[in-house]
Amino acid sequence: MTRVTYATLSSENEDLHTSYEAGLRTANSWLGATFAGNGEPFTVVSPADPAKMLCTVHAATESDVDHAISVAAAAAPRWAATPWPVRVGLLRAAADLISDRCPELAALMSLEVGKNRLEALGDVEESADLIRYYCTQVESGNGFTVDMARLSDHEHTRSVLRPYGVWAVISPFNFPMALAAGPLGAALVAGNTVVLKPSPQGSYTARKLYECLLDAGVPADVVHLLPGGDEVGRAVVRHPGVAGLTFTGSYEAGMSIHREFARDYPKPVLCEMGGKNPAIITASADLDVAAAGVARSAFGFSGQKCSACSRVYVQREVYQRFLAALVKRTAALGVGDPVLRDTFVGPVIDADAVRRFESAVEHTRKVGRVVAGGTVLSREGYFVEPTIVTDLPVDDPLFVDELFVPFVAVAPVDSLDEALALANDSALGLTAGFFSADEREIDQFLDTIEAGVVYVNRAAGATTGAWPGVQPFGGWKGSGSSGKAGGGEHYVQLYLREQSRTVVS
Ligand code: GLU
Repeated sequence: MTRVTYATLSSENEDLHTSYEAGLRTANSWLGATFAGNGEPFTVVSPADPAKMLCTVHAATESDVDHAISVAAAAAPRWAATPWPVRVGLLRAAADLISDRCPELAALMSLEVGKNRLEALGDVEESADLIRYYCTQVESGNGFTVDMARLSDHEHTRSVLRPYGVWAVISPFNFPMALAAGPLGAALVAGNTVVLKPSPQGSYTARKLYECLLDAGVPADVVHLLPGGDEVGRAVVRHPGVAGLTFTGSYEAGMSIHREFARDYPKPVLCEMGGKNPAIITASADLDVAAAGVARSAFGFSGQKCSACSRVYVQREVYQRFLAALVKRTAALGVGDPVLRDTFVGPVIDADAVRRFESAVEHTRKVGRVVAGGTVLSREGYFVEPTIVTDLPVDDPLFVDELFVPFVAVAPVDSLDEALALANDSALGLTAGFFSADEREIDQFLDTIEAGVVYVNRAAGATTGAWPGVQPFGGWKGSGSSGKAGGGEHYVQLYLREQSRTVVS
């Protein structure tokens, strides 16, 4: 099957559709399963049809959490002592299994979280590529052992990067494979054992990822799945046996984990949090490219990406023309069942997301203008129209707070300086996009924008669509705690601590 990346998605590739459709048949045959812990059961339903029950999951209890962490702790010295080429071999095998199972994993993801065909295929391939990338990093760093300078002939020092022990990964619903597989892959190849607590809404996909790891030969005491909601997450965060933690999710949850997790001594905690990602369009920009890039970023996966574009600042001279181009692009997007080939915008994840959408539209109707969309579809499932709003004050909450629905606010500006000041006037700084044909403007944007991942003139996604080994992905300011990004060359080292080893002979 042709490989899919977000930036090269093409719905014209028949091969992709044929294999996805076969994958959908397999994924449908998986429905109705029951799995996991000893706690209260919950059901996972499809956001495209909440009457469709996908699986029953028994949440992990506090004693399941305790047991998994003790087993992972007991396995940690053995896994750390396993030569890194062996760990790399196992993880590469897991990545290959993920790629082999890509169509059925993607189809299950579409059913479970509502991601469209091509983006779901991309999410699965990204997972495999993240794992492969971290394997390559360990290989090219030769296991991260470095001979240091010598002060005498008798004294020899090496710097060695060593794993921490048990690492917890708390992953979100929106990239139910990639944002679990990336941290898992990095932690495991670095020699940590892992407990994974996925979002309840992505439980089934996470379970299938876990199966890929086990089927590839990663030992069962090295990786553990702890499904459930916030209580399970809290039990993991509070457990003294967890040495390091990666969380992806909201700013509020991330900051509370940050404070809670390292309360006794400084422990590594990597938080990737929200975004309120701007795009700036100057008078020199190609407006069709800008409209394509913004539509894809604002409405891809129904705006439920941390990287989604949700505010746009446009130079006044081209404001009306850009808006017309964006409205036209948006009207052409297929909204509907995510498993169908022509769907670009599937459902939002749940009734809460629909409520957030409705209250944003209601607020806009009072103080601004809805220029496209604005309606909740009257059909089964959580479907809302991709929505463009204007005429809001630039400090309106809709320009400030992350909504995680397909909703973008657009405002005119008088200068690039003004656009950059507005773009940077945010507690968050994940991604940003820029459209201009002027080299000096591009340099000014790149040197001034406060965001971890930035794109210039990208029709394939103004602010979205990072790929492992291509665009390191991580936020600045309130969007991320590490300053080092997933899929980048400094990431796997975050799962390791340095030991200086001096031996006198
Ligand atoms: N890596 C994804 C992208 O570049 C976004 C991940 C997220 O939403 O957290 O679009």
